[in-house]
Amino acid sequence: MTAYDSLVEHLKETQLVGSINSLLGWDERTKLPKGGGAYRAEQMTYVSGLLHKMRTDPRVGDWLAEAEQQVGEQDPHSDQATVLREARRSFDKLTKLPQDLVENITRAEVEGQQAWVDARAADDFPAFAPYLKRIIELKRQQAEAIGYDDCIYDALMDDFEPGEKTSNVRSVLEGLREDLVPLVEAISESANRPDTSILTRSYPASAQESFGTMAAAAIGFDFERGRLDVTHHPFCTEMGPDDTRITTRYDEHFFPMAFFGILHEAGHGIYDQGLRGDHYGTGPGEYLSLGFHESQSRMWENQVGRSLPFWTHMYSKAQDNFDSLQAVALSDFYFAINNVQPSLIRVEADEVTYNLHIIIRFELEQAFMSGDVSVEDLPGAWSEKYQHYLGITPPNDADGVMQDIHWSAGLIGYFPTYSLGNLYAAQLFDKADEELGGLHQQFERGEFQPLKDWLVEKIHKPGRCYSASELIERVTGNPLSHSHLVDYLYGKLGPLYGIERP
Ligand code: ZN
Repeated sequence: MTAYDSLVEHLKETQLVGSINSLLGWDERTKLPKGGGAYRAEQMTYVSGLLHKMRTDPRVGDWLAEAEQQVGEQDPHSDQATVLREARRSFDKLTKLPQDLVENITRAEVEGQQAWVDARAADDFPAFAPYLKRIIELKRQQAEAIGYDDCIYDALMDDFEPGEKTSNVRSVLEGLREDLVPLVEAISESANRPDTSILTRSYPASAQESFGTMAAAAIGFDFERGRLDVTHHPFCTEMGPDDTRITTRYDEHFFPMAFFGILHEAGHGIYDQGLRGDHYGTGPGEYLSLGFHESQSRMWENQVGRSLPFWTHMYSKAQDNFDSLQAVALSDFYFAINNVQPSLIRVEADEVTYNLHIIIRFELEQAFMSGDVSVEDLPGAWSEKYQHYLGITPPNDADGVMQDIHWSAGLIGYFPTYSLGNLYAAQLFDKADEELGGLHQQFERGEFQPLKDWLVEKIHKPGRCYSASELIERVTGNPLSHSHLVDYLYGKLGPLYGIERP
């Protein structure tokens, strides 16, 4: 057996163990009885430890070195080159960090999350500050150990957007911010307002489940290779090439949460189902980046699911399912699900303001990583940016700087992937529309297969054979730009709110 074959066999075995861990994790978050929690934690810690041992096995380094020599120069986008590149990336990252640093980070994150829960409940940022300082310091050490080209933030973002550069993301998000702030202002000043009380009437969970399942299947989520279940914090996970699980939660007096949540998670699931199963566990069969993963969920949730053509097809079915919609006109329903309003909480934000919530976090993360803003000054800097970009000031830190779990869990550099997802989604959708000819007319007829097939071919099947910036350029002919998202938002919201692009 060649070194390359040994490496691939080991990677697949590692994935086998990883998928068992996913199954334990999915079960924990959907079905596990309370009493089973302690032993489940032992099971998952054991399997995680085993996984870490397999990923950092010194033989991986030997196989890699030998295979890289044997294979030599070849097309960097070939499957074989991609297997080696991704295996090298992961192995180097895991083995570059000293063991005591890894342990310190893990401890700081566990303690940080506990402190965050308590401090948030008591609205006491000073109680959380020392924990956050510790995490930031350890993340600096992590970035230094791994190394980076331009700035320290590159090294942190790399865990979520492999190869992405801070400078590139900054210029795209700055352009987006400059266009979004006036759009939000114009919408806030508009006299047009949807009647959102339509959405808070009675929506029985069982009817939501059958309607949501029907819609997920209609857009292409394969229920022969996946399931939908109930959870507290919805997510999507896969536990094998033909087993993808999506989850949701139902609020019987708020229609959008479960419905758009299901479309969102189904979008993630369709991506997982579209990856090449024969490469499961190696680079060519892996999702590209969190930003690209989010582009797939956002496109089905927003570009498709909040469009008028989608509801032109779906609305009579919705009316059959829900008595609350029987006397509601499609145009009123459509405006209500596209309501835009600046608000304090990121996870409740609409399609437009969501990106400003992200940009604020992205700017502050860079500022505290570089030392420009101290942890003590974070609440003030947070409020200032909320006032500046969204025109609102948080009344307290619990609903301000402490609202997200990310920083307490050591997830610094993660936030920009949400907006990258929105940006990729808009740019890809425009290209698909151009190549497939009239997606909106297809949606009106209930035809979603052409868009899904296009995404599978262009985005899912390449796996990690191209970097994110290479793939967006390869598929759309242009590097990532904020203009597609801004055009899309004005195109939809302009007529609803009676505003024009300046
Ligand atoms: Zn998502």
